[in-house]
Amino acid sequence: MKQVLWFRRDLRITDSAILQYVKDEVLPIFIFDKNILNLLSKDDKRVTFIYKSVLNLKKQLKEIGLDLAIFYSTPKEVFSKLKNEGFENILCSIDFDDYAKKRDDEISKIIPMQTFTDSFITHPNDCLKADGTPYKVFTPYYKNLSFIWDSYRLEEFKANENLKLISFDYKFIPALEEMNFTAQKLPDFLEKSADELLKEFEQKIENYKVDRDFFDKNATSNLAVHLRFGLISPRQVFNKIKGLKARNENKEFFIRELFWREFYNYILFHFPRSEFENLNGIDVNWNEDEEVFQKWCEGKTGVPIIDAAMQYFNQTGTMHNRLRMIVSSYLTKNLLVDWKKGERYFASKLLDYEASSNIGSWQWAASTGADSVPYFRIFNPYLQSAKFDKEAIFIKSVLKELKDVPLKQIHSENGVQSNIFLDYPAQIVSIEFSRKRAILEFKRANNEKN
Ligand SMILES: Cc1cc2nc3c(=O)[nH]c(=O)nc-3n(C[C@H](O)[C@H](O)[C@H](O)COP(=O)(O)OP(=O)(O)OC[C@H]3O[C@@H](n4cnc5c(N)ncnc54)[C@H](O)[C@@H]3O)c2cc1C
Repeated sequence: MKQVLWFRRDLRITDSAILQYVKDEVLPIFIFDKNILNLLSKDDKRVTFIYKSVLNLKKQLKEIGLDLAIFYSTPKEVFSKLKNEGFENILCSIDFDDYAKKRDDEISKIIPMQTFTDSFITHPNDCLKADGTPYKVFTPYYKNLSFIWDSYRLEEFKANENLKLISFDYKFIPALEEMNFTAQKLPDFLEKSADELLKEFEQKIENYKVDRDFFDKNATSNLAVHLRFGLISPRQVFNKIKGLKARNENKEFFIRELFWREFYNYILFHFPRSEFENLNGIDVNWNEDEEVFQKWCEGKTGVPIIDAAMQYFNQTGTMHNRLRMIVSSYLTKNLLVDWKKGERYFASKLLDYEASSNIGSWQWAASTGADSVPYFRIFNPYLQSAKFDKEAIFIKSVLKELKDVPLKQIHSENGVQSNIFLDYPAQIVSIEFSRKRAILEFKRANNEKN
């Protein structure tokens, strides 16, 4: 049987379900999908990362006697041709976001498709409440996954060694420029392999639980981008962390974070409309002022921690988790702007952008999703910066104009504006006024009496 191995967001040869289950004659492929690429800007950093990763995958496949045919086309065109060439079956890992589902529906009508849960540890149907409905709260969902507690090692997939590579044109490798992209400088950690990052994380895990919130400390694993594109599987990360000698408390805490990724994938699978609407169904009167949203995007809100986070994000495509929590709370609560706008803005640039985690986290911040932050618990950005960037190391590294400004001014409302040597933008709204405004609006949207 002639089978296609379609690599998409699983760009690895270890722990690969498709490489274990494929039989006989195979054609491994990767498609630079015009439907996706045409929507991205020329300087999208993710394309540079994927490009390098695809070439690396090709090299690794060659080392085990296979190869990778690369296409620059649409999946529909590729598979229509492959059908005419007698291919009977496609193996690939499953994906649940809206575009992926529509694409896979279309392709499976051309050539039958076999999908595997390979980008996540669990399939969303594997963990339901006793009444057969999905969980909406993280802790009971997590507690129900008993294998996390019982096992020290999850079974990993092994590549079938008896495969025959189909002869095909394996030479074609489109240049980035041919696809209308320019090579981008990536953050240093993305020049490292997933194994190197894991090795570095071994030295940091003992302090993970405490240090992970401080954004000038490089205390987290930095694995999200590698997980997103499947350069390492979440099973491999789980096994590696479980096997470390670190204190259980830190290991469990990290694994819990890894399962937030699973949880958001689970939520998107069971509640696909949450990609487009408030999961809890509330109807918020969002602030439609486009200028306010633009100021947030550009990092010109007049609040140093928000401005530093957003400007850093615009330059690098990365943002620390705590900063994501602060800027998303500020946008959806203080500025009362619809989370969908923030979600789309993150999606346009975030190197580790993953639809389910991004949508779930934005709905969490906006108090409209599953297991969200209660609407009345609104971060004060000044208290957050005083706590997690006490010496303003991060803020000053981005906002160079604040380099000589006293910490007290940076961490207090209108502090930088009071500095006569600076011309810093005025705040869009006062923190107390906007906090009260958000609470009143969310009370109304939740039909709660005053
Ligand atoms: C508004 C907002 C948007 C976000 N968008 C994304 C996104 O598009 N893609 C993404 O991978 N993460 C997203 N996150 C979650 C989190 O910020 C990143 O996973 C984390 O910063 C990645 O850094 P790390 O790999 O060093 O994390 P570590 O702390 O080392 O965590 C290990 C892994 O666990 C997973 N993880 C950790 N925290 C979370 C979380 N809160 N939700 C889901 N998974 C988590 C990630 O896969 C991460 O790589 C978002 C968070 C917020 C608040």
